[in-house]
Amino acid sequence: MERKVALVTGGTKGIGLACAIELAKAGCDVIINGRSEEAKVQDALNEIKAQGVNAYYYRFDVSDFKAAEENVAKMIEQCGKIDVLVNNAGITQDGLFVRMTPEQWSNVINVNLNSVFNVSHHVTKYMMKARTGSIVNVSSIVGVYGNAGQANYSAAKAGIIGLTKTLSKEFGSRNIRVNAVAPGFIKTQMTAGLDAEKITPFISLKRLGEVTDVAKTVKFLALDADYVTGQVIEIDGGLSI
Ligand code: NAD
Repeated sequence: MERKVALVTGGTKGIGLACAIELAKAGCDVIINGRSEEAKVQDALNEIKAQGVNAYYYRFDVSDFKAAEENVAKMIEQCGKIDVLVNNAGITQDGLFVRMTPEQWSNVINVNLNSVFNVSHHVTKYMMKARTGSIVNVSSIVGVYGNAGQANYSAAKAGIIGLTKTLSKEFGSRNIRVNAVAPGFIKTQMTAGLDAEKITPFISLKRLGEVTDVAKTVKFLALDADYVTGQVIEIDGGLSI
């Protein structure tokens, strides 16, 4: 059977790379995107290829609409299609709202939220023609509940949830599903500065999340959940209930 093609933005490390590997395990050829030089992502590409599929790397800034357009066109030329899009790339630039600079605000909105518009805008053109597709957007529990010190990030992640629900309605008739995941505290470079001992008492499962905890849910939404669209799954070990 012809393999599906999955694009994971920010797929060079952390949650994105775990999603890429999980999708590869399920038999997808995988395109990862990031900002690093190609030489620095060889290990990531090899880990994906080790699952017996093809792996490709496209270096571009997801906050750049034109770059997204050019690169998605090249991906289609190379792979013929994109069946699955995981909008995962993200950054934080935290600070209390009263001290937050316009630059901190717009950097985080651009990379976390505008990127989802930029990449999805171009990918859905091809999905619509194919009349099939699945998009999984990586939000955060702070997009649902807010978090002091993360006005920019929580606004971007809340925006992703609104966009997810709207796109699920706009694209449903074209057989394109759009869902989101909202992770809690997951062990990656992004959360390396956190004091786990202070946080874990508030988590029902008494541990931080692993990247694979998120990746398995992303894979489920992307490939298995045929009648699920417009949903947001919180992956936080019970932190928020
Ligand atoms: P990470 O810093 O380990 O990885 C981020 C990835 O995004 C990297 O591959 C990086 O190259 C890429 N990236 C950043 N800016 C980019 C840009 N402008 N263009 C292209 N690629 C870019 O972070 P992570 O913890 O793996 O986070 C992945 C996603 O999960 C993010 O959207 C993050 O907001 C979200 N998230 C993480 C946690 C957590 O606890 N780690 C919790 C909730 C949500």
